Amino acid sequence: MPRALVVGGSLGGLLAANLLRSIGWNVQVFERVGDDLASRGAGIGTHEELLEIMQRIGIEVDASIGVHPESRSCLDTAGNIQLKMPRPRILSSWGRLYRALKDAFPVADYHFAKALVSFTDDAGGITATFDDGTRAQGDLLIGADGIRSTVRAQILPQAEPRYAGYIAWRGLVPEAALPAALHAEIFGHNVVCYPDGDAMTAYPVPGPNNDVRAGHRAYNWVWYHPLAPEALGALCTDASGFCHGTAIAPALIRPEAIAEMRATARKSLAPQCVQVIELTAQPFFQAIFDLESPRMFVGRAALLGDAAFVARPHVGMGVTKAALDAARLADSLAQMGDIEAALTHYHERQHLFGTRVIARARRIGAHLGAQAMKPPETWTPEERHQNPERMMRESGARLRDVPELIELVRASRGEIGAVPPNSRIS
Ligand SMILES: Cc1cc2nc3c(=O)[nH]c(=O)nc-3n(C[C@H](O)[C@H](O)[C@H](O)COP(=O)(O)OP(=O)(O)OC[C@H]3O[C@@H](n4cnc5c(N)ncnc54)[C@H](O)[C@@H]3O)c2cc1C
Repeated sequence: MPRALVVGGSLGGLLAANLLRSIGWNVQVFERVGDDLASRGAGIGTHEELLEIMQRIGIEVDASIGVHPESRSCLDTAGNIQLKMPRPRILSSWGRLYRALKDAFPVADYHFAKALVSFTDDAGGITATFDDGTRAQGDLLIGADGIRSTVRAQILPQAEPRYAGYIAWRGLVPEAALPAALHAEIFGHNVVCYPDGDAMTAYPVPGPNNDVRAGHRAYNWVWYHPLAPEALGALCTDASGFCHGTAIAPALIRPEAIAEMRATARKSLAPQCVQVIELTAQPFFQAIFDLESPRMFVGRAALLGDAAFVARPHVGMGVTKAALDAARLADSLAQMGDIEAALTHYHERQHLFGTRVIARARRIGAHLGAQAMKPPETWTPEERHQNPERMMRESGARLRDVPELIELVRASRGEIGAVPPNSRIS
């Protein structure tokens, strides 16, 4: 039985692990964090393709998978509805998807507190070494270890995340904490607000313990706000003066930084959005990065999900892209006996897909990135104007509404040999 070592036990790693297991591989997952990840994370946009892949793993996808808002409403800064569109996508939560994928995988084959340090790839196969000094051997290594991937750093050290010039402040408000009038106005909807140079989206998601019962859900918000690279370091500095790099644990964010964020929100956003931010007990933020790997594999080490490509969150594709990577990798391995041929085929499909997703997300966020990164006189027309109608249409799209992506997804479902032009490895 062929053996796969999966590094990273988040959604991408679990999707790959479950799919490879379903085609007869022995799969071992190694996760750096020492305990269950389910309590972390917030809202996740889904696509039909992601839910289909979860069903293929044997996971039951029913109404409990997420919340389906009635519409998307764009508010102007006075709080009036400027535009309204249907909202075709189900909004789930990171913990809901993680729980389902983790429960589908054998407990004994998922190893917590195992951080990959390095690996060798030679005639004898892959040998992975972990930070506790233990080793594991396999025929294939899958780097599903996220944006700061150790696997990628070893095989493609030149591929590094690039800061996009803005951050996303985020938070969750329990449904029961929303005042009745605000609840009636926004809860059933995905509300967006696009003041010049800013963008906010807020929507209902499952609540604690993945509860989708009325009154037990949560309202998730994401506010994209420009921030110069030098200011990011200050924001990631805790009360003791220690700088945590480009990310900081929510509990360590200085109260003054949160107060300043709330004050800026009051000046910029629709009152409904401000109210949601005020009601959030623990806001947190993530800096927005672009990451593009030149290849999806080297030797017998493959990259998948955020380890390979990170798209700005506007496209809401992080998890769906990881799922499509995992499905294409499993299909390629199932249909082509030879691992190297399968990895070449995997690259030819998913590298082009990742490149197109990144380009699309960059285009949608161009206006936000330019604010802190370029002098206004050098802005392109796309960077100069944020068109609410286009922002809404593009960020809420289903895959089938995005021709350059759906053609690749459909081609992958067809015969295994068909590779689009310009996707071959150079
Ligand atoms: C706890 C958590 C919460 C998240 N919440 C959200 C959310 O609310 N909304 C959203 O849009 N996206 C969220 N994400 C990101 C989202 O999961 C990814 O964008 C997407 O699903 C692709 O996932 P991935 O598995 O490729 O990467 P990631 O989800 O980043 O997972 C990478 C995993 O690899 C592990 N890892 C890293 N280095 C090593 C190593 N050397 N050895 C072993 N393991 C390693 C990490 O601990 C992590 O579990 C979250 C990620 C995590 C880890």
